[in-house]
Amino acid sequence: MSADVIDGKEFSLRVRNKVAEGVAKLKKDYGVKPGLAVVLVGEDPASQVYVRSKGKQTVEAGMNSYEHTLDATTSESDLLKLISKLNEDPDVHGILVQLPLPGHLNEDLVINSIAPQKDVDGFHISNVGMLGTGQKSMVPCTPLGCLMMLRDYHGSLSGLDAVVIGRSNIVGKPMAQLLLGDSCTVTIAHSRTKDLKDVVKRADIVVAAVGRAEMVPGDWIKEGATVIDVGINRIDKPEGGTRLVGDVDYDSCSAVAGAVTPVPGGVGPMTIACLLANTLTAACRANNVEEPVGLTA
Ligand code: NDP
Repeated sequence: MSADVIDGKEFSLRVRNKVAEGVAKLKKDYGVKPGLAVVLVGEDPASQVYVRSKGKQTVEAGMNSYEHTLDATTSESDLLKLISKLNEDPDVHGILVQLPLPGHLNEDLVINSIAPQKDVDGFHISNVGMLGTGQKSMVPCTPLGCLMMLRDYHGSLSGLDAVVIGRSNIVGKPMAQLLLGDSCTVTIAHSRTKDLKDVVKRADIVVAAVGRAEMVPGDWIKEGATVIDVGINRIDKPEGGTRLVGDVDYDSCSAVAGAVTPVPGGVGPMTIACLLANTLTAACRANNVEEPVGLTA
């Protein structure tokens, strides 16, 4: 058996089109153009690439993109002043501070200074708490993208056994909350989990968010399970050069699984699509306008 491929590239295009439709309607019916402010501190090359790509896709969806690039030596108080200004700006509906920040800046303090309703990354402690208590919140983009793909593939997730490998605040924990919200029976595994193979083997849904290249082999996967691979790892090719792989061993897993997301082209493209979705959601909420269905949890 060969697993269905859950095509994140194609699905993210559908999400972005839906966002663009929602943006056009918001502009036409209410005169509101959603705006996303992205703050980048320093010159980390990978972050620069992400920020450029976010800005481009924001504009393509019909929204305003405001990029704020600050020097790596920017003080915490200057960064907080900028965030405070963006919090007050009615044209800015979403604020994203690109992580990681340079070492002298306190990430928790900075993230928690963003107005929760503009926190399109969903990392503010209020949004974390609201997600955990089943209240309407801004939901972290990567797990939101995984949830959208799972719902699209399965319809209802109710009663399914889900194992999330990884317990980070950015992916693992919010992913587990979202699956719980959809009535899965959820296990969170991590580096201290005993008998990880047995834990994973009983899952109908496996979400791997570890950061270890091809760590999950096919013989850990229950036949017919759905495997969502969040990992992005660059490895050397035998013939020279490098390539991207996920946290699951794609070939052996897809021989057993019912469905699997590839790397690249799976979860990755969904993350920015969900950032755009969150910006539209934030703009709708700020203007007491009904949110488009299917763009949030
Ligand atoms: P973190 O490093 O923050 O967390 C990794 C988690 O994996 C930890 O909870 C850790 O456990 C667990 N872990 C590490 N080794 C093992 C092991 N041998 N067995 C079981 N669990 C283990 O990573 P992130 O959550 O930020 O990211 C995970 C992956 O997802 C990375 O490859 C990252 O690049 C990718 N990513 C992809 C995104 C996308 O858009 N597609 C977005 C965000 C991340 P412990 O807590 O015990 O240390």
